[in-house]
Amino acid sequence: MVTDKLEEAAAGHPPEAEKRRGVAGPGAATVLVLVALPLVLVSFFFGDQTASIAADSLARLHRFKESSPAAADRLLGGLLSPDFDEAACRSRYEASRRWKPSPFPASPYLVERLRRYEANHRRCGPGTARYREAVAQLRSGRNADADADNHGECRYVVWLPIQGLGNRMLSLASTFLYALLTARVVLVHEPPEMEGLFCEPFPGTSWLLPPDFPYKAGFSAGSNESYLNMLKNGVVRYDDDGGGGGGGALPPYVYFHLEQIHLRLQNHTFCEEDHRVLDRFNWMVLRSDSYFAVALFLVPAYRAELDRMFPAKGSLFHHLGRYLFHPGNRAWGIVERFYDGYLAGADERLGLQVRIVPEMAVPFDVMYEQILRCTWEHDLLPQVTNTSEPGGARPPSTKVKAVLVVSLKRRYYEKLHGVYYTNATATGEVVAVYQPSHDGHQRTEARAHNERALAEIYLLSFSDTLVTTAWSTFGYVAHALAGLRPWQLAPLDWAKMRADVACVRPASVEPCLHSPPSLACRRQDADPVAHVPFVRHCEDVHAGLKLFD
Ligand code: GDP
Repeated sequence: MVTDKLEEAAAGHPPEAEKRRGVAGPGAATVLVLVALPLVLVSFFFGDQTASIAADSLARLHRFKESSPAAADRLLGGLLSPDFDEAACRSRYEASRRWKPSPFPASPYLVERLRRYEANHRRCGPGTARYREAVAQLRSGRNADADADNHGECRYVVWLPIQGLGNRMLSLASTFLYALLTARVVLVHEPPEMEGLFCEPFPGTSWLLPPDFPYKAGFSAGSNESYLNMLKNGVVRYDDDGGGGGGGALPPYVYFHLEQIHLRLQNHTFCEEDHRVLDRFNWMVLRSDSYFAVALFLVPAYRAELDRMFPAKGSLFHHLGRYLFHPGNRAWGIVERFYDGYLAGADERLGLQVRIVPEMAVPFDVMYEQILRCTWEHDLLPQVTNTSEPGGARPPSTKVKAVLVVSLKRRYYEKLHGVYYTNATATGEVVAVYQPSHDGHQRTEARAHNERALAEIYLLSFSDTLVTTAWSTFGYVAHALAGLRPWQLAPLDWAKMRADVACVRPASVEPCLHSPPSLACRRQDADPVAHVPFVRHCEDVHAGLKLFD
């Protein structure tokens, strides 16, 4: 049995120095010197196979270092504008060198819409006269009047963060899509723990909410300014055109609450008539932890535009994520050092993301066994021989496979590393196991912790193959950025303490919207899967919704 074999194999633990290699990556130049010197000596005196395997790796690392950024599609098929200062954000044009070429071309119309969005953000963004006017209107205590000269010129959606980084990236990308569809400018509240985490995505302007913005805290489903409460209290009605007149009698902003636990329960979030009312407000403040982009496809008014921007639906986050999220230089430094130091020289990179949620903590042995079943059954990792001697019968391959273990916990890395450090593989492949960090617990309030988390999402996204954990938005973001359908470790059957099928391949690279909104507004079947051809339930969250082609 898989587990028995591995228990034995794991008995030999790696020496401390070897373990520590995963903690911090030396610069690539240091690695080159450190690796090259012994190699030259060993191959000179002995000319043995070990030296030649490692020399191959070195040559591959050289080739990677020398590959010109221009050779990669640095503007991602036109998604990125060329008008940025490269030094201020090194990741923006560098990430493409490490990603596999995208299998999903961005549509020309999406590219055109992004350039239009950027121009509008420059006109209306912080620091402009239009922004100052709009804030003055907001402070005046009422919504802008539709008849006023400036109405509709500049409209805003303010994004407020909640939950971990994966949730934040999914909800921010969704908010940006909403802004594209409703001609709003997206402004991001950046609390201290997110400071400098991401670069500015729009050239010549800023997406950061200026610090003196008055409404950024204290919102919940119960807030009076929440759209649902306004509807309930008669502050807004479907049948009037904006509070008696041109919208000027409405409150100065609306709060749109889209938190996962409420989405399924509350009506009136993704019905067409609600979006017509929401559209009357010049200012919207939005708080969500969800990938509600999927729900926007269920609002008929947005469909034509979405179809033009995204003729293929299954790569929505792949494009929006690569367009919006560029790690700031601190996080990118971690990515570069670790990638160049440990991963670039390998023939193949397997990313393994293990997310253990404290409230539903899968026991270590159960999860470890499932990981092995998944990776061995699907030939993602070679089996081991239970001996440290190289196999005699078949000529050893010189292939080096790097396994990047990304987890808050250290034990998965330790055990897997022990197995492949101590034992030869049946195929002769060399399997090198690394882990960049192991913070132990989620610490969303700590900036450096979030930088490591973002760096690891990006490192995962540079893999050739990914194994991720069910339900994890962290994993979703990594595989969607990569453009890879991962092998997703199936949720545990708690009654059996086992997942019968170790892992499944999702139908698309898209993230899952865990909690679909109630669509009681529709007369047709409330389950959109029944009538929307590009929406299906998620493999890991059965009630959830995801886009696919
Ligand atoms: P989810 O909870 O898996 O859906 O992902 P989130 O990203 O929303 O929240 C989990 C948070 O825990 C992350 O944002 C990190 O702060 C932290 N975290 C979870 N897994 C890892 C990991 O493998 N590496 C690092 N560095 N942090 C992690």
